[in-house]
Amino acid sequence: ALRIEGMNKYFGNFHALRNIDLTVTRGEKIVVCGPSGSGKSTMIRCINRLEEHNSGRIVVLGTELNDDVGNIDEIRREVGMVFQHFNLFPHMSVLENCVLAPMLVRKLPRQQAEEMALRFLEKVRIPEQASKYPGQLSGGQQQRVAIARALCMQPQIMLFDEPTSALDPEMISEVLDVMVTLAADGMTMICVTHEMGFARRVADRVIFMDRGEIIEEAPPETFFTASQNERTRQFLSQIL
Ligand code: ATP
Ligand code: MG
Repeated sequence: ALRIEGMNKYFGNFHALRNIDLTVTRGEKIVVCGPSGSGKSTMIRCINRLEEHNSGRIVVLGTELNDDVGNIDEIRREVGMVFQHFNLFPHMSVLENCVLAPMLVRKLPRQQAEEMALRFLEKVRIPEQASKYPGQLSGGQQQRVAIARALCMQPQIMLFDEPTSALDPEMISEVLDVMVTLAADGMTMICVTHEMGFARRVADRVIFMDRGEIIEEAPPETFFTASQNERTRQFLSQIL
C-alpha cells in the first residue's frame, strides 16, 4: 500500500527526516512513536503531501508522489487523515462535515452521502449527534466525528497523528475503541501515538523515531520487552 525509500526532508537547513525507509502492506497496522520533534508528524504529512519531501521516493497505492499535481488529489482521496486537533469545520453540523468532501470530490448525490455519513457515525457510535455543531460536542465525540468524516471518503489508508493526545483521559478509550474496530475491519493504518496499550493490541509493527530517523522497527512484543536499542529503552522508560 505504501513504500518509502531513502526519503529525506529538510526545513531550510534543518534535516527533519533522514533516509526514511518504510514499507506498509495492505491491511497492516503501524504504530509510530518517538520523542517530541523526532519527525513523526512530518513523516505522516509527507505521505499525503501536506509536506513535500526533498529526496528519495514515496509511493502510495502505486502512485509516486512527485510534482505532478494531478496525483496529489488522487492520493488525498484514498488516504484519510485524523489530526490531534480535530480540524472539523466549526460552522457546519456534524452531518455537513461528513458529507462535504464526498459530495464535492467524489460527486456523490446528497442523499447517498448522508446515508453513508450516518452509517459511519453509527460506526463511531454517535449517530445521535449528526445535527449538532462541533462546539457542542466533547473532545472525544469531535475526534470520533473526525474519524467518521475521514471514513466517508472511503480511504484505503488511514493516517492518525496523535489522535488522543489532546483529549481528557476519560475520553481517550472511546476514540481508541473506534480505532481498534477500524483495525479489526482490515483498514491499513499508520498511527502516531504513545498509547502503548493500543500498540500492543493492534500494531503489526511499532516504529521508533528519534532525530529524524527510524531507529527501530519491531513487532510490539519484541519492541516493548526485548529492544536492544539504548534510545528505545530510554524512551520506553519515560512513557511506560
Ligand atoms: P511531536 O511529538 O511534538 O508532535 P514530531 O515527532 O511530530 O513531534 P515534527 O512535528 O515532525 O515532530 O517535527 C520534526 C522537526 O521538524 C522539529 O524539530 C520541528 O521543529 C521541525 N519542523 C516541523 N515542521 C516545521 C516547519 N514547517 N518549518 C520548520 N521546521 C519544522
Ligand atoms: Mg507531531
